[in-house]
Amino acid sequence: MTIRLFNTLTGRVEELAPADGQALRMYACGPTVYDYGHIGNFRTFLQVDVLRRFLRLQGITPRHVMNITDVDDKIIRNAAAAGVDIGQYTPRFEQAFFEDLDALAVEKPEIVARATEHIPSMVALIERLAEQDCAYRTDDGSWYFRIASFPEYGKLSRKDFSGITDGARVDVDEYDKDSARDFALWKSPKPGEYHWQTALGPGRPGWHIECSAMATEYLGEAFDLHAGGEDLMFPHHENEIAQSESASHQTFARHWFHVRFLLVEGRKMSKSEGNFYTLRDLLLKGYKASAIRMLLISVPYRQQLNFTFEGLAAETGAIDRLRTFHQRVLAAPTVSALNVDLAAETSRAGQSFCEALGNDLNTAEARAAIFDLVRAGNAAMDAGTLGTENVPKILDVLNRFDQVFAVLEDHDTEATRFALDWAEREGRLEEIAPELLAQRDFSDDKIQALVDKRTQAKRTRNFALADQIRNELAEKGIVIEDSKDGVRWKRK
Ligand code: AMP
Ligand code: ZN
Repeated sequence: MTIRLFNTLTGRVEELAPADGQALRMYACGPTVYDYGHIGNFRTFLQVDVLRRFLRLQGITPRHVMNITDVDDKIIRNAAAAGVDIGQYTPRFEQAFFEDLDALAVEKPEIVARATEHIPSMVALIERLAEQDCAYRTDDGSWYFRIASFPEYGKLSRKDFSGITDGARVDVDEYDKDSARDFALWKSPKPGEYHWQTALGPGRPGWHIECSAMATEYLGEAFDLHAGGEDLMFPHHENEIAQSESASHQTFARHWFHVRFLLVEGRKMSKSEGNFYTLRDLLLKGYKASAIRMLLISVPYRQQLNFTFEGLAAETGAIDRLRTFHQRVLAAPTVSALNVDLAAETSRAGQSFCEALGNDLNTAEARAAIFDLVRAGNAAMDAGTLGTENVPKILDVLNRFDQVFAVLEDHDTEATRFALDWAEREGRLEEIAPELLAQRDFSDDKIQALVDKRTQAKRTRNFALADQIRNELAEKGIVIEDSKDGVRWKRK
């Protein structure tokens, strides 16, 4: 079976296969670790996960590289505001990112590369560009890519930049969507700013050169597929192409995979609109990790996904149905009459599932095929006509489904517990849904941690939080006693 996928570069749906006949070499732009990931980010990472899982189901081994952007404008700004080095600021967000991927059952890429650990390859690439006159140094010691040296600029986003003004520059990582300007490869440090001493002079890399250098280091100068959210197409990916192809004179990535944006309740997700959700926000509201995964992957990657709480609740129901069906088939009685109709239905479901995914990763049709099987299987079990020989066949289809969808096994409690523990550590108890609080178990350590948190809250005059913790503990039968010698607690 072949995998056909839309290629942004050619504008066509094309067959995807490893050029070297062995591993599919793919690069996906990773997170900028300056904050917790939001559900839009995770939609993109999940769709890439669906792609790599489906490749493996088809017997194709991915060699998947993902970068961690641990130096950029926003990180430098946030770290400075927090009064720490970038190296002290990013690790907790990087760790949080991987915890979130785990909660969402996203497979870890074969190679994860941090920008700050690849400065020498970035410097080497910029030097190579400078030798070919595609990069130049400005008076302040920064280096820029000369867009006019790359006539194919705009080929990915299909923008016409024929009237490029040579030398017009922009030094921020992201810039306006309609202009082509020479972009920073290497930025000289502002006073007091974090920097590296290199052959290019002191400074730090631009965002775009990061991905070019790391993709090339691990995948070679030409590789199979490059992925990211649709917002990255321009300028980020266009710039990656310009840098990489100017240096190597080869096609950088043959296939470009872009995931469309997620909207929330029909609008762009944004903090100021109050419709901005991290994964942790949703877990603390009591939604299951598997339902979130299911919702984020079920709309095919090229369609806009409108996230709603109604939709999320519906996915919780859908997963219950799937899991119940799975359990029911596993426990099915071992003898019953032949059922050739269901046998046919089962193989049809298995085939439709694979065909749908092979057809530009149509996750919506793939899941519909499985729910057809659930319906038919349940009806047969209700009537006592499952047919013993159908049991392994159905289980095999469910197993293939789950190698891609990964929702059948229940890790939801673990994921929720991890979010609760995190909220507790971070003092974000007020964000936890009451029904989750009620389910929480309290070990002595946890109680002590909460009591300490309350003491701290009182010290900082956050009496609302202090009262809330006291009430919460009281509900669990734990009383706090404030005395001259400190705070004690006991179970009633
Ligand atoms: P960032 O950490 O901002 O660099 O983004 C990480 C990934 O998430 C990139 O591939 C982005 O294109 C993607 N992304 C950001 N916002 C959204 C969104 N609303 N919907 C889908 N993908 C997104
Ligand atoms: Zn990138």
